[in-house]
Amino acid sequence: MKTPAAKLLVPLTLVIAAGIIGLVIWRAGNSPGSRGARLGFQEADAPLMMPASGEVDERFCLLTAWQRVQIPPAARFDPPLGTDHGGLTYNAQQFWEMNDGRGGRHLGDDLNGIGGMNTDLGDPVFAPADGLVVYAGEPSPGWGNIVVLAHRTPDGMVLQSMFAHLDRIEVLPAALVGRGMRLGTVGTAHGAYPAHLHFELRASDEVEIGGGYAMQQLNRLDPAATLAALRLAPPADRSPSVLACLLAPNDNPWSGLETKDAKGAERLLELLGKDKSR
Ligand SMILES: [Zn+2]
Repeated sequence: MKTPAAKLLVPLTLVIAAGIIGLVIWRAGNSPGSRGARLGFQEADAPLMMPASGEVDERFCLLTAWQRVQIPPAARFDPPLGTDHGGLTYNAQQFWEMNDGRGGRHLGDDLNGIGGMNTDLGDPVFAPADGLVVYAGEPSPGWGNIVVLAHRTPDGMVLQSMFAHLDRIEVLPAALVGRGMRLGTVGTAHGAYPAHLHFELRASDEVEIGGGYAMQQLNRLDPAATLAALRLAPPADRSPSVLACLLAPNDNPWSGLETKDAKGAERLLELLGKDKSR
């Protein structure tokens, strides 16, 4: 004959075991690793918002599919400061120079007006090529205002150009900009440095601002050397206008159209469906 206590032992053990199993499953579901794994499939349709506990949400680093298809082709790149040949500027701190004070190598070029110090404060910064604004804002006080553009090179690679310490930002996120359009003005990051443009080129379609110095090159390219390689496209291959990109991204009759001579004017009339003899 069992005592009442012995009768209760089996169901009590089962209840406690179920509680322990439940607790283990609940804790496993809340561990950081499984949260990241869940984001991949379960929350793909969830509205984008800032993560509640402040951790990095990797979805913000990658361009969306919509952003990626909007990145315009850019066959030609020009310097972002000074004249269209980069005249009237000098490079105060070149790419990959060691900076002991900052404990790393410089990941961009520091472009300045030739007057030195703050004489270039407020000078316009130009889009080096047709591009999509994928970031415009202030990620931290040390960076100040930043604009990041995404470009698609003729071989299909996505390049990003980054313009830091700006005094003013003159473009909005998600805007398409044409080569030579103003992006903002040279600044000091609220007085942190003498006015200059920290200019980076990155081989990436991931928006991750990072730091300006490191001991690894990461995805950064030598801006001066890369511009030199990309800027000498012949006139026929020059970037079409942003409007042309919007109208017909792949094969548009307007790209490369020159109207300065009779042949160009003839072609223009032909495209407009007009008879030049009238
Ligand atoms: Zn710099």
